[in-house]
Amino acid sequence: MEIKRNILLNPGPSTTTDTVKMAQVVPDICPREKEFGSLMKGLREDLVRIVHGDPDKYTSVLFCGSGTINIDVCINSLLPDGKKALIVNNGAYSTRAAEVCEFYGLPYIDLRFPVDQLPDLAVVEKILRDNPDIALVHTTHNETGTGLLNPIREIGALAHKYDAVFTVDTTSTYAMRPINIEEDNIDFCMASAQKGLMAMTGLSFVVGNRAIIEKSKDYPKRSYYCNLFLQYDFFEKTGEMHFTPPVQTVYSTIQALKEYFAEGEEAKWARHTRVFNAINKGLDELGFRQVIKPENRAGLVSSAVYPDDPNWNFETVHDYCYERGFTIYPGKISTTNTFRLCALGAIDEADITDFFKVFREALEANNIAIPVKYND
Ligand SMILES: *Cc1c(COP(=O)(O)O)cnc(C)c1O
Repeated sequence: MEIKRNILLNPGPSTTTDTVKMAQVVPDICPREKEFGSLMKGLREDLVRIVHGDPDKYTSVLFCGSGTINIDVCINSLLPDGKKALIVNNGAYSTRAAEVCEFYGLPYIDLRFPVDQLPDLAVVEKILRDNPDIALVHTTHNETGTGLLNPIREIGALAHKYDAVFTVDTTSTYAMRPINIEEDNIDFCMASAQKGLMAMTGLSFVVGNRAIIEKSKDYPKRSYYCNLFLQYDFFEKTGEMHFTPPVQTVYSTIQALKEYFAEGEEAKWARHTRVFNAINKGLDELGFRQVIKPENRAGLVSSAVYPDDPNWNFETVHDYCYERGFTIYPGKISTTNTFRLCALGAIDEADITDFFKVFREALEANNIAIPVKYND
């Protein structure tokens, strides 16, 4: 079967290999069969292996849903009664975590920093010192809205110094930028199969500390479907997900994991870096400005500022590229108009070279000046 290969430069779902796509085509199976249970066991172990977790200390818990379900699960499940969450927030994805607190009516501090800047660790520490009732600290590793890399190891060390659990949204770094759960001071990290793993949508997972999950058994149950302990406990007792898993996505994820380990952590990260460098080079050559300073970039998402050209129109440029097999994506910053080009997925440098040929044509076809112009 010939499947058209699209180059997705959006921040997930990402371009997948044909072998991962085809892995979904399997004989029908009831996921309550032992055969399926043994697949899930291996899958859960591999997810811990990716972040180099000791399998006795760390486990993974699967959910059927997009990546946001993990943020919901971690926050609603891991906050003891009467305690407060601290969200170290410099972007749209940490704002999601603050909204989860808001929707569950949980006490929280939304500690905001500018979207193009690293959090001030001295301020983080002061808040922790002044609020001994903070029991959970949450932040985002790669703020996908901008591409900013947060200093998670340092934030985690502070969380632990003040006896708080550290949950990190690693959805846009997991299985790409190397993570060591223990050395990075992470208690819980998370992702979905469609991003770094380059599999399909519908499967998300939390990787984290078993002892803390077991302790959370006695915390208030705030959600029926999205409780971490309940899902963990069901897995441990039965080897199955509590409710119906995304069966075909599980098969494609298992294939994607095979391909992940065959490529290797180091080689895969080197490939993403190659792609990212090619994206930045292409943007630089066309004169685009970016939101995040080079030293603060997570190496996966480039956020370019719209030029001040009366002929610039993101939609028409997008459509031109889309018709030719390349997907570009709007930004996620309320103050600046930006678009994003991401280095996720089964793509390499040559795809970016091809993309910039098309992108340049799109600018020329719309009479947008090259290099692009800014007023100040
Ligand atoms: C993609 C992503 C998510 C999940 O978003 P969904 O819209 O639920 O797929 C969460 N956090 C980060 C940092 C992400 O990049």
